[in-house]
Amino acid sequence: MSIQLFVPTFAIDEVLAEIRECLERGWTGLGFKTVEIENRWKEHVGLPHAHFLNSATAGLHLALNVFKEEYGWQEGDEVITTPLTFVSTNHVILYEGLKPVFADVDEYLCLDPRSVAQRITPRTKALIFVGLGGNTGRLEEIQTLCAAHDIKLILDAAHMAGTRLHDRTPTGDATVYSFQAVKNLPTADSGMICFEDGRLDAIARKKTWLGINKDTYTRTSEGGTYKWLYDVEYVGFKYHGNSIMAAIALAQLPYLERDNDRRREIAARYDAGFRGLEAISTIPVAPGCVSSRHLYQIAVEKRDQMMVHLNECGVFPGVHYLSNTDYRMFADYRGLCPNADRMSERIISLPLHLRLTDADVDKVIESVIRFRIGMVA
Ligand SMILES: *Cc1c(COP(=O)(O)O)cnc(C)c1O
Repeated sequence: MSIQLFVPTFAIDEVLAEIRECLERGWTGLGFKTVEIENRWKEHVGLPHAHFLNSATAGLHLALNVFKEEYGWQEGDEVITTPLTFVSTNHVILYEGLKPVFADVDEYLCLDPRSVAQRITPRTKALIFVGLGGNTGRLEEIQTLCAAHDIKLILDAAHMAGTRLHDRTPTGDATVYSFQAVKNLPTADSGMICFEDGRLDAIARKKTWLGINKDTYTRTSEGGTYKWLYDVEYVGFKYHGNSIMAAIALAQLPYLERDNDRRREIAARYDAGFRGLEAISTIPVAPGCVSSRHLYQIAVEKRDQMMVHLNECGVFPGVHYLSNTDYRMFADYRGLCPNADRMSERIISLPLHLRLTDADVDKVIESVIRFRIGMVA
């Protein structure tokens, strides 16, 4: 049996029951279950606002779009970001005609505040912090820097569903979660954006449905005579989530913390298996952080050969991520982040999901260790 990187596990009967409600009621779109998941998510993470989306990519773009328009940013204004991320994080900067400014990562593989400080200019308007693998890295120092320089902080929390920092949900001015198929709260494709500012949350809600504002008329219609009328206030997007995705999320949410506990247990087993082995660096979790453990990453020399060896052993890990500046799209920014470049060549994400048995984890550990011995011999 092969051991895969990610295999989502669904509460199938509960998911089907939630979806059945949508089908029986004849309501699969925006509203109904999307409202319910927003309320449940707000309770779960303890944040005041949450808007359900069709993806985290949409949410990251929306955050920049709303900030840019509300705060009057200009084309070419700068957004500090990390090269070690899924390309979504950086594409959205280009969607808005803003300029990505890559800062380097630290030992947590998250943005290093020292590097960030060197990248701040009068044109720096925003910073996107990626909690890689569920880790918070030096987020608090980044928050302080952003506050001091009036920089909007977007937290790309795609990996962070359930992550806690000093027993609270870590946040930015906008915090964006992914409920994509292999994330910790898997649906098929959906996400959530949590604005700190309720005014921006209200704008975002209109913008995710083409800028349509139904409220102005429903409020004044007294009994709904003009229910069919609406105003359009913005050039919005088709970014809102739907009730089928929300139904899946609602069925999965009660298991998120239990699942994350198991993820942390697997991570601890990996940690114990690699303890004392010099050739295998594990990525530490930041102090005060209880990580969602979306990923378990190690760093090794000869990563590509190790990947081939692991595949031969029936183990199929991943890499999160190659430095985005390795891609042609971002080639202009090569060579500015030495630590990210170094790690980009060395990191491996080991299998981490809820169907792994302890024996599977042990097999992965043994396969990793055997490669080392093989290389020495
Ligand atoms: C998955 C992911 C995204 C995008 O999420 P979608 O919901 O697939 O759009 C963004 N950032 C990171 C770090 C991710 O891993």
